[in-house]
Amino acid sequence: MTLLRLQDETLGHGGRAVLSGVSLTLAPGERVVLLGRSGAGKSTLLAAVHDRLRAETRVALVPQEHGLVPQLSAEKNALMGRLDDHGALRNFRTLVRPCAEDRAGVAQVLSALELEAQARQRVETLSGGQKQRVALPASAGGAARGTGNLSEAAREADLVLLDAYGVLNVGETPIPGAAERVAALRAAGKRVAVVSNSAGYPKRHMMARWQRLGFDFSESEVTSSREALLERLRGDPRHWGIMLGTGHGTEDLGDLKVSFLGDDPRTYAEAEGFLLIGASDWTEARQKLLEAALAAQPRPVFCGNPDLVAPRENGLSLEPGYWAHRLADATGIAPVFCGKPFPEIFDLARARNGPALPPGRVLMVGDTLHTDILGAQARGFRTALVTGHGAMKALGCAQSFAQAGLRPDFVMPSI
Ligand SMILES: [Mg+2]
Repeated sequence: MTLLRLQDETLGHGGRAVLSGVSLTLAPGERVVLLGRSGAGKSTLLAAVHDRLRAETRVALVPQEHGLVPQLSAEKNALMGRLDDHGALRNFRTLVRPCAEDRAGVAQVLSALELEAQARQRVETLSGGQKQRVALPASAGGAARGTGNLSEAAREADLVLLDAYGVLNVGETPIPGAAERVAALRAAGKRVAVVSNSAGYPKRHMMARWQRLGFDFSESEVTSSREALLERLRGDPRHWGIMLGTGHGTEDLGDLKVSFLGDDPRTYAEAEGFLLIGASDWTEARQKLLEAALAAQPRPVFCGNPDLVAPRENGLSLEPGYWAHRLADATGIAPVFCGKPFPEIFDLARARNGPALPPGRVLMVGDTLHTDILGAQARGFRTALVTGHGAMKALGCAQSFAQAGLRPDFVMPSI
């Protein structure tokens, strides 16, 4: 997939050619470092790339001189990043007396950038690093934009993909207002679907659960990592040892030949490969049996839920991804992961809910940078991070973004 293609182009300003014979291809999610001596034309090339991309997508250029107004506060400079979104009258009023909604949005962005305390401070009094951070929201939306709610973030999306844990529910408790937001998105003409690294239960059980939690999703609107895994293994003739609670038997597993991994070492010895699907009944003792079996005879391992943990009412539960990573460390076997951030689950959800949509019209909403946001950005989707209920609850955004090298398009405490 190509985001931008320049082919043997001449670039410059005001009719004056600065660069000639420029060819450049950019893919969605790709990171490119541009190196060149002073005066080589780096800024000219960046300005041309910005111009082309802004015609079809939301893109930010953070120039080296920041483009800030030194006499105005950090808050007002940040608000300027939204000027393109509104008419002249609203913009004028915003700069004189910003409305509560705009100020709340900017407060979230400044908080994410750890600049809350400097919101009312004139930019000319800030340090170099602080100015650089104010320049992110001021450069109009390429950085994470704080929004009051998901309806605002979804304005330019036709399909909204929602993570479950940390976005719609925490354990068996629905997040207040989430079902109402789903209804509001539908009323605004958006398609809405769930994309969840939830593999422990059959689809029938998941659908009953959504209904119990107060959500009206149809079957095709719910895509799980369990389905992505089963799709991948369709027709596979091997005999698998499975990590999965026995409560629902083999419902949904189709023709797969499986034995539940329990406390009998023979089950581990006999399997031709292993599927890590649900960890609710898993124990340290079983992990040791699996490690020993793989050390004795290496076999393929598939993990149907790459999550390490899931938020529950009383803390975090350990998920198959956690055990899979431990297994990899102990045995050197690289598990095959199905589920976010890997592509199959996103492709399955899109095929069911909007196969013809351009990726830029799809918005993925999640609470985890390295699954929801990473995977969606790799597919070219827009992304929104929910910070108030799940993985980000105890973490600072700015530090997490820097550590992960990931930055969602939008940030909000709750949908
Ligand atoms: Mg989640």
